[in-house]
Amino acid sequence: PIPISAKVQKLRPSPSMAAKQRVLELEAAGRTILDFCLGEPDFDTPEHIIAAAEKAMRSGDTHYTAAQGKLALRQAVSRKLEVENGVTYDPSEIVIGNGAKQLIFEVLAATLSEGDEVIVPTPYWVSYPDIVSLNGGVPVIATCGPEVNFKLTPEILEAAITERTRWLIVNSPSNPTGAVYTKGEWLALVEVLERHPQVAVLTDEIYEKIFYECNRTITPTAIAPALKDRCVVVNGMSKAYAMTGWRVGYAAGPVEVIKAVTKLLSQSTSCPCAFAQTAATVALETEHPAVDEMLAAYTERRKLIVDGLNAAPGITCALPDAAFYVFADVRDLLGTVTPAGRSIATDIELVDYLLDEASVAVMDGTSYGTPGFLRLSFAASNENIRAGVAAIAAAVAQLT
Ligand code: PLP
Repeated sequence: PIPISAKVQKLRPSPSMAAKQRVLELEAAGRTILDFCLGEPDFDTPEHIIAAAEKAMRSGDTHYTAAQGKLALRQAVSRKLEVENGVTYDPSEIVIGNGAKQLIFEVLAATLSEGDEVIVPTPYWVSYPDIVSLNGGVPVIATCGPEVNFKLTPEILEAAITERTRWLIVNSPSNPTGAVYTKGEWLALVEVLERHPQVAVLTDEIYEKIFYECNRTITPTAIAPALKDRCVVVNGMSKAYAMTGWRVGYAAGPVEVIKAVTKLLSQSTSCPCAFAQTAATVALETEHPAVDEMLAAYTERRKLIVDGLNAAPGITCALPDAAFYVFADVRDLLGTVTPAGRSIATDIELVDYLLDEASVAVMDGTSYGTPGFLRLSFAASNENIRAGVAAIAAAVAQLT
């Protein structure tokens, strides 16, 4: 047999992908599952974006592009960052990748040396620690629980920094909690970072367009320009424009990092899909009601799921500020017993119980570094949300 490398043997498959697989297997076995694990919009890509891709394809836009991504798209990203985020990046300081995920991976691949530390605050997006480890880094998990509203504080940050710290990863708005860092919260973190020039900041702003009554996402360099030479902003088309399958994301940062990432891309993927880049350019440059319509739907679903979960005994759920997830507190349900006599000691066992008993699939908080919570995506229809929360409420009511 061909030996598999030690680093890949150690790698865990993405927990959200594993959850999806489990749902598919149960469905193949004839079960009907209400799936709240979905990490993507349930909407199709807006028609004008599809039309732009089709037009591009038919006019010969079917060849390799620059490894850094098409200039027109990088110019569109540059304008977007200027107008919407208040940060100035030249197209030479921007790189296009096959999704934000690839760019997070390549930025870390381009900058980490063996043993370098990366601070990952909890609750974290499931992929960060593994991407860090895969690139030789050491994820330093900074616990940020409900008592700090799941957000990194200056004290927690200060305590996590060592001489080996190379990066801090901040995901605002957050998957899984929907938390958004305010200007004041960023400024407090910046004050700490100013004392530790060895620490760079990677901000993952992929959910920025999906926000409710809270403030907009703040790109830290907009309020702390001094940080610009050690900050990389990652964003993409997936969530805002329902374009997860198109695989287009972008990163903006210091030119030497962008060049290093481009070099890696040139030796791995060559470039992102040509006509997807053209369609992404159109998406960024066209005002279209589709984005607002999706937001209106999420707003309604958010209330539906939060009200429904709060009505279930033992579950407490806050309204998320942004994104399309709720992070429900189920700590009161731990230590209970199912009607069949099975004990529910952890959120993972609760997930299994809900799948067996209520035919509802949700993600365990443990996968996000935060046991005692469940993540539910409300990128689902109102009808499924109503049915799902009712099934969850009925199932947890039976726990004693
Ligand atoms: N960052 C976060 C926090 C995410 O939740 C996701 C997708 O689930 C991504 C990045 C990946 O985005 P993309 O589709 O652009 O690779």
